[in-house]
Amino acid sequence: MTDTLHITCPACQAKNRIPAAKLAARPTCGACKAQLFPDAPFELDEAKLNKHLKNDDIPLLVDFWAHWCGPCRMMAPMFAEASKQMLPKVRFAKLDTEQHQTVGSRFQIRGIPLIILFDKGKEVARQPGATDARGIVSWVRQHVKG
Ligand code: ZN
Repeated sequence: MTDTLHITCPACQAKNRIPAAKLAARPTCGACKAQLFPDAPFELDEAKLNKHLKNDDIPLLVDFWAHWCGPCRMMAPMFAEASKQMLPKVRFAKLDTEQHQTVGSRFQIRGIPLIILFDKGKEVARQPGATDARGIVSWVRQHVKG
C-alpha cells in the first residue's frame, strides 16, 4: 500500500494528496476546505464521477437512484448509515439517473436502486435492489480488502 493517497474532493473535485495515516483524522480539501470524507453520501454527476474514477486511490460506492423510485428513497437512509460505518475506507456517493441519463447506458443499468463499487477506476461489483445498512456493509466488506 502506498503512503500517500489521491482523494478527489466531493465539493470542488480538486485532487488531494493525503497521507494514508491521516485518513481517519477526517482531512479537508486543500483547495476549498470541504470534508474529503463527509458524513453523508455526496452527490455526483457524470463529469464528477469521471474525476473520482480517474483519481481516487480509495474505493467509491455509488448509489444509482432517482426521485420517482420508491425503493431508492427507502434505501437512502440505510445507504447513509452504511456510509458512516465504512468511512474512511470506502466513500459513498449518489448519482441521480434521471438528471444524468447517459450513465444508464454507460453502466448498463437495467433497474434501480443499483449500487456499484468502483476501485481504481474499475467496477468491482454491483448489487441491484434495495439493501439495508447491514447488507450494504457486509457486501462492501466482501469486496474491499483490509
Ligand atoms: Zn475541495
